[in-house]
Amino acid sequence: MSNFEERKPHAVLTPFPVQGHINALLKLGKLLHLRGFHITFVNTEYNHKRLLKSRGPNAFDGLTDFSFETIPDGLTPTDGDGDVSQDLRALCLSIMNNFHQFFGVFLAKLNDSATAGLIPPVTCLVSDCNMAFTVDAAEEHALPIVLFSPCSASYFYSTFHITKLFQNGVLPLKDESNLTDGNLDTKVEWIPGLKSISLKDFPDIIRIKDPDVIKYKIEETDKCQRGSTIIFNTSNELESDAINALSSIFPSVYTIGPFSSFLDQIPENHLKSLDSNLWKEDTKCLEWLESKEPGSVVYVNFGSITVMSREKLLEFAWGLANSKKPFLWIIRPDLVIGGSQVLSSDFLKEISDRGLIASWCPQEKVLNHPSIGGFLTHCGWNSIMESICAGVPMLCWPFFADQPLSSRIICEEWEIGMKIDTNVKREEVEKLINELMVGEKGKKMRQKATELKKKAAEDTRLGGSSYMNLDKVIKDVMLKNY
Ligand code: UDP
Repeated sequence: MSNFEERKPHAVLTPFPVQGHINALLKLGKLLHLRGFHITFVNTEYNHKRLLKSRGPNAFDGLTDFSFETIPDGLTPTDGDGDVSQDLRALCLSIMNNFHQFFGVFLAKLNDSATAGLIPPVTCLVSDCNMAFTVDAAEEHALPIVLFSPCSASYFYSTFHITKLFQNGVLPLKDESNLTDGNLDTKVEWIPGLKSISLKDFPDIIRIKDPDVIKYKIEETDKCQRGSTIIFNTSNELESDAINALSSIFPSVYTIGPFSSFLDQIPENHLKSLDSNLWKEDTKCLEWLESKEPGSVVYVNFGSITVMSREKLLEFAWGLANSKKPFLWIIRPDLVIGGSQVLSSDFLKEISDRGLIASWCPQEKVLNHPSIGGFLTHCGWNSIMESICAGVPMLCWPFFADQPLSSRIICEEWEIGMKIDTNVKREEVEKLINELMVGEKGKKMRQKATELKKKAAEDTRLGGSSYMNLDKVIKDVMLKNY
C-alpha cells in the first residue's frame, strides 16, 4: 500500500558517516522536508545501530515522508566497536573503494520501491562533498545532484587549492623545513580570496603523506567540481570573500545557513525534536544550568572526534577549576587517549560546588540556555554555527582539519573569540576564561556575537539571503527533473 499521498519531490541525502556531518545534513533534510520533499536519509549500518541505541529502538517510527535507510560501510567490525568514532582513514578509503557499489545497489532498491508505488521516484541527490562517489551515481541515473560542504566555505576553498597542489606534485613537500614551528606564521600568498592566511591555519592537510589519503582527496575534489553545485551552512555575510572567490571556480555556490537559525523559526512539529546523536544525551545538565546565574557558565565541549592526552586534559581541568567560574564540561568516553578516568578525587572535590561533568549533551539547548556565557570549543563548524545562533562568544582550541582556519576566522575576522595555544597550559586557560566571562574583551565579543546572531536570524528569515538561496537551489537544481 502506498505510504505517500501525493507525488512529492524525493531527495536522497548521504552524509559522511561521522557525527558532525550527519547532524548538519539532517538539519538540511528537515529544511527540505518543510519545503515539501520526501526525504530518504542514508546512514551507514554502523551509525544507524548507534542511533537506535542512543535514541531508542522506536526513534524513527511515525515519521511521514522522512525515512532513515542504511548502506554498509565496508569496514570490519573491529574498525569501529560499539560506541566509538570509526577510524577516519579507514572510512575514507572504504568510501573511495566501496561506496559507489553499495550506493548503486541501494538506489536500485529505491527505484524498485518507487516502481511499486511505495515511495515517490527519486528526484535528486543531496550529498556530503566528502561522499563524492554520489556524483558518479547522479550521472549514471541522470539525477541532479547538490553537494553539501559541512565545513566553512573558506576551508572548502583552501582545500580545493591545496588538493590542486597535490595533483600538480608541489605537495607533499620534499623539504619540510618551511613547515617547522618557527615558520608557521608564514603567510600563504597563493590562495586568492583568503586574506593573510598562514601555514599554521591548515597544517595537517599540507602535511598529508599517505598516498591513499592523497588519492581520496584528489578524487573528491575532482568529482566535486564535476558536481558543480555546492551549498554551505554559512551565510554571505559571514564569509563573503571566500564565497566570491569560490564563485569563480564553481558555477553555482549557495550559502543557505546558519541552519540552526533557519530551524529556530519553524513551528513546533514532530521533526523539531528529531536528532541524530550517536551518544546518549545526558539531559540533567539542563536542570543544573537552571540553578546558575544568567551568562555565568563556561560550556566546554570538544565535539565528537577530537582526542587529547591525559596531560592536556589536566591542564584544561585545572585551568577551569582555578578560574573559579561555573562550568559544564562534556567529556566524551573516548575523548582522552588511554581513557577518561584521569580526574582525581581532589579535583572533583575542588569543583563540586561549581562544575558539572557529563559525557554528551543536547548542545544546542545548552548553548541557548540563558546561563551560558562562553563556549570553550574545538572549533568544529557545526559548533561554531550553533554558538553564533545562540550569540555565545568562544575560546578556541582547534584540533585538526578545518578547525585551525575556523579558529582564525572566529578570532581575527569576526572577533568573537580568543585562541588557546595548542600546547595548552592551565594558567592561560584560567586567564582567558576570566577575560571571556568578565573582562572588557569578553564583553565586546559578546556584543559582536549578539550582532551575528541577529544577522543570522535576518538571513534565514523570509526574504533573507540564505532563505532566498535555499529557494533558488531547490528551484534551479533539485527540482530540475521534477
Ligand atoms: N554535539 C552534541 N552534544 C555534544 C557534543 C556535540 O549535540 O555533547 C553535536 C554538536 O551540537 C554538533 C556536533 O555534535 O552539531 C559536532 O559537530 P562539530 O562540527 O562541531 O564537530 P565534530 O564533532 O565534527 O568535530
